[in-house]
Amino acid sequence: MTTIDFKDLQLNDVTFGYQDKTIIQNASLTVNRGDKILLTGRSGQGKSTLLRLMANIIQPNKGTVELVEPNGKVVSPQPDYFGEVNQDSNIFHDTLRFNLTLGRDFSDQEIKHAIQEAGLTPLMQKIGLDAVIQEDGINLSGGEKKRIEIARAFLYNRNFLLIDEGTASLDPQTAHEIHEMILSSDLTVVEIDHHIPEDLQSKFTHAYKLEDKQLIPIS
Ligand code: ATP
Ligand code: MG
Repeated sequence: MTTIDFKDLQLNDVTFGYQDKTIIQNASLTVNRGDKILLTGRSGQGKSTLLRLMANIIQPNKGTVELVEPNGKVVSPQPDYFGEVNQDSNIFHDTLRFNLTLGRDFSDQEIKHAIQEAGLTPLMQKIGLDAVIQEDGINLSGGEKKRIEIARAFLYNRNFLLIDEGTASLDPQTAHEIHEMILSSDLTVVEIDHHIPEDLQSKFTHAYKLEDKQLIPIS
């Protein structure tokens, strides 16, 4: 199982463009273990691109993205270190168990622990671990689908979540509940979201805005 233990993730003076169009210029950011970082900015400013750079799905044209291990060793982050929660859910036409384990061998106890952490116990009690989820989770609520993705990250020990408008399709109350859970956890979180209510904004450790290619700290 891929588990990361890290002190921080650093973007050092990162410049990136698709083809020759620069999207992000000289961005620097340190994400400490346990930080909850909010990233905002208008559409097309490069927020999703920044998350892809953090996960090493794409690489900077200039600058570096580094993961610093607790002993100080510097490595490149790998995409599978991160739990991803996006606007579109990643749910398969298979059992609830498979949707959590993705076919890897976890004990019922481990699965139930992840379910509990992600607040998915009511669903498990209602349908059971071996109930079949329909294609794209059409027989689940939006909130349940998000919680499945979060429980999956817990199960895989992916303690670093990259959330790209992950709760955008949910009603405000469900989105709020999921934020309460995430923001009070020891997960490390970088989240893109445009609709964070004020009472939750103060629970993020830092906030940044992407504007005109610049990554600007706002708190
Ligand atoms: P939104 O809020 O709409 O999701 P965003 O801030 O996440 O926007 P990105 O998806 O990072 O923005 O895109 C930044 C810019 O890069 C946009 O102009 C987009 O058209 C462009 N872009 C994104 N992906 C690619 C790609 N694979 N190839 C070329 N250009 C791309
Ligand atoms: Mg985006």
